[in-house]
Amino acid sequence: MILVIGGGLAGIRAALTIQESGQQVHLVEAQPSAGGRLATEIVNGFTIDRGFQVINPGYSELRRLDVRTQFHPISAGAVAVIDGRTTFFGDPRRELRSISRALPKIINDPKPFFGLLRGALLTQVREGESADQFLQRLGATGAPYEQLIEPFLRGVFLTALPEVDARFAQRVLRTLFRHVPGLPDGGVQALVQELRHRVKSIQSGERALEISRSGRGFNVKTTNATFAARKVIVATDYANAQQFSSAIPKVTFARSTAWYFTLEAQISYQHRLHVAPLASGPVVTAVDVAAVVPSYSPDGRGLLSVTTLEESSEREVRNHLQQIYGESINGELISRIDIESALPIIPPGARRRGILEDAGLIFAGDYLTEPSQNGALLSGRLAGESAINN
Ligand SMILES: Cc1cc2nc3c(=O)[nH]c(=O)nc-3n(C[C@H](O)[C@H](O)[C@H](O)COP(=O)(O)OP(=O)(O)OC[C@H]3O[C@@H](n4cnc5c(N)ncnc54)[C@H](O)[C@@H]3O)c2cc1C
Repeated sequence: MILVIGGGLAGIRAALTIQESGQQVHLVEAQPSAGGRLATEIVNGFTIDRGFQVINPGYSELRRLDVRTQFHPISAGAVAVIDGRTTFFGDPRRELRSISRALPKIINDPKPFFGLLRGALLTQVREGESADQFLQRLGATGAPYEQLIEPFLRGVFLTALPEVDARFAQRVLRTLFRHVPGLPDGGVQALVQELRHRVKSIQSGERALEISRSGRGFNVKTTNATFAARKVIVATDYANAQQFSSAIPKVTFARSTAWYFTLEAQISYQHRLHVAPLASGPVVTAVDVAAVVPSYSPDGRGLLSVTTLEESSEREVRNHLQQIYGESINGELISRIDIESALPIIPPGARRRGILEDAGLIFAGDYLTEPSQNGALLSGRLAGESAINN
């Protein structure tokens, strides 16, 4: 039997890979339900994702899984306040009308903007380059970059662009350019639920406590039992993985806070992601998620999902939202979630191998590939394949 520890995307993917090969596999997950960082809860009838995240159905690893979950596409554009004016930018192929109306407002000549986008997708990244250096090399300067593109990408990486590897940033841009991400009914957890139900042998609420060698295999002590396993895949989060190996590479994480406000009245550009210019306040992005997925709200009211990176007070967040939307957000704050280890940061030049093998244990997780659902799934698949073949 092969034991998988951890039921996030990586662990579920590892278990499915082994199951498909016909070998016996069991998965243990510490929390009452599987899903890891793809978590959703219901608060006052509202669907609350534990941190704003979107799912890109174009991810190669999702396509391999032939996922049935349907996603409501999020508008292929974003809004920013540039020099005091609310300005919208969008993907020209999907939002022809709106972009032709809006672009001249942000950039007198839109050609350099598209040149930049084209360059960002096609230009070869230099070894060790940061996302910031890469975009500056392509000529990204001035208000559109500083007040729109840079803050938008900071909302994706949850950290500043000088800290992010350019190659990874380019992969993200390509995926965003080719496919529209979205959200499912039931919250992001709906995706995990679909995948989790495919795993035949899985136990939630069971934490792995200790792993020891036993002959050619392992004994794994959990809160409920001791398992004898031929192979063990440790697909826990980074902090818990360190408990089982001293060979885990050093990885830094970005933190974020998710705020959810009800909306008593419609706001302008409600379907769109708002990005806030750097240093204008604590908010990085804000979007009415109930406008994207109506079932997120039990009664037709909007649900503003706001992301901040630094410690900030409710008053500071509300003040900044008022600046961004040009109107005060008077709804109730129904949830505030601090996520200390939200996303692993890939610093410039860092190369991740996908999995780690140490003393016979196989480690998987997004911190070994890249900080995304696709990265977690890829790592899980590679771990499963390694367990089958070795
Ligand atoms: C705020 C936020 C925004 C994000 N935005 C996006 C986005 O827009 N697009 C995107 O692609 N990705 C996004 N991500 C990243 C994505 O959610 C993660 O990359 C992915 O979910 C990580 O999966 P994982 O399996 O590697 O780890 P995790 O999800 O952390 O799973 C690890 C699992 O192991 C379990 N575990 C830990 N210790 C034990 C133990 N001892 N025994 C048993 N079980 C254990 C945990 O309970 C957990 O379920 C975002 C993440 C956050 C937090």
